[in-house]
Amino acid sequence: MNIDLSGKAALVTGSTSGIGHAIAKGLALSGANVVVNGRSQAKVDAAVAALTSAAPASRVAGLAADVSTAAGCQLLTERLHDVDILINNAGIFEPKGFFDIPDEDWTRFYEVNVMSGVRLARAYMPGMLKRNWGRIVFISSESGLNIPKEMIHYGVTKTAQLAVSRGLAEMTRGTAVTVNSVLPGPTMSEGVETFVKDLAIQNGQSVEEAAASFVKQHRPTSLLQRFASVEEIANMVIYVASKEASATNGAALRAEGGIVQTIA
Ligand code: NAD
Repeated sequence: MNIDLSGKAALVTGSTSGIGHAIAKGLALSGANVVVNGRSQAKVDAAVAALTSAAPASRVAGLAADVSTAAGCQLLTERLHDVDILINNAGIFEPKGFFDIPDEDWTRFYEVNVMSGVRLARAYMPGMLKRNWGRIVFISSESGLNIPKEMIHYGVTKTAQLAVSRGLAEMTRGTAVTVNSVLPGPTMSEGVETFVKDLAIQNGQSVEEAAASFVKQHRPTSLLQRFASVEEIANMVIYVASKEASATNGAALRAEGGIVQTIA
C-alpha cells in the first residue's frame, strides 16, 4: 500500500515532540501539508525546521497555541481555516494517588486532554462534512480501558476521548469523513523518557532496566514486553488518516502491545 496524502491539510496538536512529532513527520512524508502545534514558538520553529528537512517535498508550517484553552483553540482556528486531517494528540499525564488529586488537576487534565479535541473538532468537522472528506483521530490510551489506579484522572480523560470520538463518528453516516481513536500503550516519547529517567535515578537502575521493570511491574499483561517507539504508534495513525482507511470509522484502534486482554 502506498499512502499518498498529497494536497491534504493536516493539523497535529502537541507535535513539537513525542508521538505527535512522529505523526506529523509521517503525514509530511506521505505528502500532506502539515501544521505543527505546541505552546512555545521556539519549539514550534524547531519542529518545523526538523520536519522540513525530513520531508522537503511537503509544506510544513507551525502555529504556537495552547490548545487547553478556548482562546488558544480560537487562535488556531482563526489562522487555519480548513483542515482535512485533525489529529488530537496533545495530552498530559502525571502519576498521582487519587486522594492527592485536587479539583484543579481534574480540571486541567480535562481541558488539555478532552476539551482541546472537542473545540477543534467543533471548528473543523463541519468543513470536512461539507467537502465530504476528512479524518479526525483522537490519541487516547489503553489507560482509557484499563484505568490506572496511579492516575485515575488521566484514565477518565482517555475514556472521555473514546466517547467523544464514537459520538462524532455517528454524525458522519453516509459521508467520507471518519472519526476514530488510537490507543497507545507505554511509548518512549520525550515526556515518558523523562519519567523513566527519574524512575531509574530513584531505583539506582539504568534507563533500559527501569523501562523493562516498569513494563513487567505495571503492565504485566503486555505481549510486547517493552515500550513502543513513537514511530510504531504513528504508523497506525498515518494509516487511519489515509484514503485507504475509508472503511474504518467509529473505531478504537489499539496500538498498545496486547496489554488489553479482551478480544475486541
Ligand atoms: P509528550 O509529553 O512527549 O508530548 C506531548 C506534546 O504535547 C509536547 O510537544 C507538548 O509540548 C504538547 N502539549 C502539551 N500540552 C499542550 C497544550 N496545552 N497545547 C499544545 N501543546 C501541548 O507526550 P506523548 O507521550 O508523546 O503523548 C502524546 C499523546 O499520546 C497524549 O495524548 C498521551 O496521553 C498519549 N499517550 C501516550 C502514551 C505514552 O506512553 N507516551 C501512552 C498512551 C497514550
